[in-house]
Amino acid sequence: MSDKFDVTIIGSGPGGYVAAIRCAQLGFKTAIIERYNSLGGTCLNVGCIPSKALLDSTEHFAQAKHQFKEHGIEIEGLSLDFKQMIKRKGEVVKQTTGGIDFLMKKNKITVFTGHASFKDKNTIAIRKDGNKTEEIKTEKVIIATGSKPASLPNIEIDKKRIITSTEALELAEVPKKLLVIGGGYIGCEMAAVYNRIGSEVTIVEFMDKIIPNMDSDLSKELTRVFRKSKIDIKTNHNVTGVSVEGNKVTLTATDKKDKEVVFEGDYCLVAVGRKPYTADLGLDKAGLKTNEKGFIPVNGHLETEVEGIFAIGDVIGGLMLAHKAEDEGSYVAEYMAGEKPHIDYNLIPGVVYTWPEVASVGKSEDQLKEEGREIKTGKFPFKASGRARASMDTDGFIKIIADAKTDEVLGVHLIGPRMADLIMEAVVAMEFRASAEDIVRMSHPHPTYSEAMREAAMGATGDRAIHI
Ligand code: FAD
Repeated sequence: MSDKFDVTIIGSGPGGYVAAIRCAQLGFKTAIIERYNSLGGTCLNVGCIPSKALLDSTEHFAQAKHQFKEHGIEIEGLSLDFKQMIKRKGEVVKQTTGGIDFLMKKNKITVFTGHASFKDKNTIAIRKDGNKTEEIKTEKVIIATGSKPASLPNIEIDKKRIITSTEALELAEVPKKLLVIGGGYIGCEMAAVYNRIGSEVTIVEFMDKIIPNMDSDLSKELTRVFRKSKIDIKTNHNVTGVSVEGNKVTLTATDKKDKEVVFEGDYCLVAVGRKPYTADLGLDKAGLKTNEKGFIPVNGHLETEVEGIFAIGDVIGGLMLAHKAEDEGSYVAEYMAGEKPHIDYNLIPGVVYTWPEVASVGKSEDQLKEEGREIKTGKFPFKASGRARASMDTDGFIKIIADAKTDEVLGVHLIGPRMADLIMEAVVAMEFRASAEDIVRMSHPHPTYSEAMREAAMGATGDRAIHI
């Protein structure tokens, strides 16, 4: 006999589990299906959380090595226990995914472990270990099956020497020479992790800059900081192949002048983006198909072309970020309950957790110029901030872009200490359609990094920054 649910969610990443909780809160009888034993999807298991755990651990090590002395702290015999670092990361993941188990129970959500596939639009088969199959009936479905690492056609990932971010979070040793293909946020974060603990790191990027989707000034500053810490960055390089011989990895690329260049290392991380995951989902049985890039098409309410089947998160494309997936999870639950939810995709912040941290919301200067908008900008460097000097975090700046006539804030771009948290001041300001002048008029506590936001706003409203 099969169970019958109001809503079944396929995939337990940040999109899926948030959708499940919100559905249960709104009174739907809810089921969630996850093919792995551990809930939480990419984000909690092999993405956001483990990468941040390693970024924090390695940043502590780098500070102890390079900055403590200047603070007057002497450490003798500083050494790295990489296995412990990886073990702690594993514990953080376990605690966090365990938290999701608790939330499922608390909200009385039925959890099925196994691979889900449609039999028809209201019937889902769950293939369990040992190929046993169970079927459930459901009124509505939310597909939240996420994404997997992408590769390039000429690269075969062996998961040993030629690796994805998943393996990079679980290495048994610190690479001597790490080659990173792709200077997006995942490539930059992993480059920072291994550079801090002694790997020689080279980033090979196809575009003319790293973090190419963010404001060019952020890219320039992160490039400067990375080069200062001896990360080699090769932009305008088109990777043509990667091969392995024993422990040696050889990467070939063509540079801007079409000249062949060869790089050698002992590991090569392929970080060229992620692709939607819909393998074996039986979409056709529900009357669905993917678009040419493999994403599931949805309308403005995140409903697919089949009524009652919704899709959210990485599998529908757009910004492939955990908080975007979460927002969409809540959206669909509330929409199904007859509420009127709203997502402003222009106000979804993006963060790169290097040090300095990089964060951005709204439009970049390049985008606004392309759109022909008349704009004004204000920029405040952290080297002029007393708080940043106290903590020895003087790299970076805050840049605010406002409309030249109305003064409305159109984009805020930050690189500096704790910017991943500070970006929320900009998001709140933009959500309420603040002007740069509004930010100037709000009292900012002294001494904090947030004062740089106010100073940048002063720069945008005229030449009136106080501390530069
Ligand atoms: P996912 O998290 O991918 O979850 C999908 C789930 O569905 C998976 O658990 C999968 O096993 C399951 N599934 C798939 N098919 C089936 C099936 N047929 N049956 C049952 N289960 C199925 N984003 C941020 O916002 N901030 C960050 O700092 C950040 N850091 C990242 C670092 C790394 C190294 C990586 C790889 C990603 C990072 N991301 C970050 C991106 C973020 O992880 C994703 O955007 C997010 O996880 C997408 O959520 P989702 O719910 O759409 O899918």
